Order: sequence, then structure tokens, then C-alpha cells
Amino acid sequence: MATNDRCSVTSCDDYAVCKGMCRKHYRAKRLYGDPEATKRQKSPDYCCVDGCDAPHFALNKCHHHYMIDYRARKRRFKAENRELFYAEAAE
Ligand SMILES: [Zn+2]
Ligand SMILES: [Zn+2]
Repeated sequence: MATNDRCSVTSCDDYAVCKGMCRKHYRAKRLYGDPEATKRQKSPDYCCVDGCDAPHFALNKCHHHYMIDYRARKRRFKAENRELFYAEAAE
């Protein structure tokens, strides 16, 4: 059964989630080209942004990508408030 697929890395018996590997090994393969390159995996997680292997900071992102999000959120919030302000002023 597909749901019983195990990670193809011999020393690992986690369930395979992608391309026959568990999440951890698939990520290592994607980042380092070697599923067993787990030297840098001491930290619980890494940035979820494709191509970014910076350590996790918050909300599944590294500090850099978290700040990009944070600024975008702030900008959106400001824009919404401005619309609210003008909507109220127009009444
Ligand atoms: Zn594995
Ligand atoms: Zn990142």
C-alpha cells in the first residue's frame, strides 16, 4: 500500500512522503543533493521557502523571509486602514 511506503534511506524507517523519501531526507536531497546529508539538520526545521536553507525563525520561515512577510502584512494592514479611514470620512 502506498501509505505504507517507507523512506528509501536504509537507516531510516520514517514514512515516505515524497519521491520515496521521508520529509527530512527528501529535504536533504533537495537542499544538498544527498538524502543522507543530515549534518546541518540539527535544528528542528528550516525555512519553507523554496531554495532557502536558512534556519527556521518563525511561521516556518527564516528571519529574512519572515521579515518580508511581516513587512507585507504591515503594508496590507496600513492600506486597509487607509481605505477604512477614507470610507468613514466620505460618509
Ligand atoms: Zn528518511
Ligand atoms: Zn528563507
